[in-house]
Amino acid sequence: MIKDIYASVIRPRELVAMLKVKLGSKEQARNKLPLSELALKFDDKAFCYAALNKVSRSFAIVIQQLPEKLKDPVCLFYLILRALDTLEDDMKFDSEKKLPLLRTFYLHIGDENWSMHNVGDTDDYRTLLAHYSKIARFYNTLDPDYQNVIADITNKMGNGMADYALKKVHTLEDYDKYCHYVAGLVGMGLSGLFAVSGYENDTLKEEFRISNSMGLFLQKTNIIRDYHEDLFLGRSFWPTEIWTQYASHFDRFANAPDAPNSLACLNHLVLDTLRHIPDCMAYMRKLHNKQVFRFCAIPQVMAMATLAEVYNNPKVFKGVVKIRKGLASKLMLYTNDMNAVVKSFRRFIFAMLDKTNPQDPNFPQLYHQLSQILILLENIYKSPEIHHSAASFEQVLMVEPG
Ligand code: MG
Repeated sequence: MIKDIYASVIRPRELVAMLKVKLGSKEQARNKLPLSELALKFDDKAFCYAALNKVSRSFAIVIQQLPEKLKDPVCLFYLILRALDTLEDDMKFDSEKKLPLLRTFYLHIGDENWSMHNVGDTDDYRTLLAHYSKIARFYNTLDPDYQNVIADITNKMGNGMADYALKKVHTLEDYDKYCHYVAGLVGMGLSGLFAVSGYENDTLKEEFRISNSMGLFLQKTNIIRDYHEDLFLGRSFWPTEIWTQYASHFDRFANAPDAPNSLACLNHLVLDTLRHIPDCMAYMRKLHNKQVFRFCAIPQVMAMATLAEVYNNPKVFKGVVKIRKGLASKLMLYTNDMNAVVKSFRRFIFAMLDKTNPQDPNFPQLYHQLSQILILLENIYKSPEIHHSAASFEQVLMVEPG
């Protein structure tokens, strides 16, 4: 916390935001007891929310933004996919057993007798699978329309994971496909759940391309940011077709973080990620419910902030690059409408323009892409759906300090 305060010391609005977020999240403070102990004490629903808090703090916070009716389906959707991902990620789990299970896991979603022992990379993940019956029982209380969406996505994701378990991400097409399985499908499933809830138009569930892009934008940003961690864990999701243009070995970037080739490779992947922004904007513009909007938009602006941070940044090759906690708090508090999204994106696109290097082989494309996004943002800002004062685009946006 002290370190976070220092990082924002010259940005008083970030300090205020950090304090507000901290005070606001008091009631859902993390339970200190291990999940395995909570599993014995808590009923099914309480266990599921405790598990969510343990396995993903950030998701547990954004889920609080949702309308009451959507919280349980989205919480379960997340936990069920997390259980599937736990099977996928455990490299010690024999692939002869793993692959068929990934493909058939969706058949066990509501199976109150199903559990799995000694699989999972952490204690919390192992507990999630060992006490799966609690998740199954809570899932069986959901409306069947929600269940159908969750089962359909789990089926598709499990099969996609099994397809990719033995092969690597080579081409850009593989990369898009892998990200579709592990993240794009989540976007599609959420659209389905929003449509079922009635908070959003029924047609949202057919918006496959833009729902997919929402997931891809987040996933690709994480894959870029996690270079160092993934290298350490002996895995990589950077498409070989791209990185082999810049180095002969994947760990070469870690050994030469400041080398022009290392940064060019990083920026090549950032350029590829920017491609999804127009779809993400189109998706967010379709949302009607303010709470659903916040749930979707907060991760998008956070990813945009992270993408601007990792861009042309040699630290990606040496460790974890994170945005300031104060900045994250501010984005969380003020991302209430398209106006705020446009403001944040524009600010981060400008931060990237400030860092562009004309020597970078991707500079012309990158510059073009960033300019196109700025034009798109300006058009959204001028559209009648955004209610704002008579101040011009530039005037309004200049108020925001860097
Ligand atoms: Mg995984």
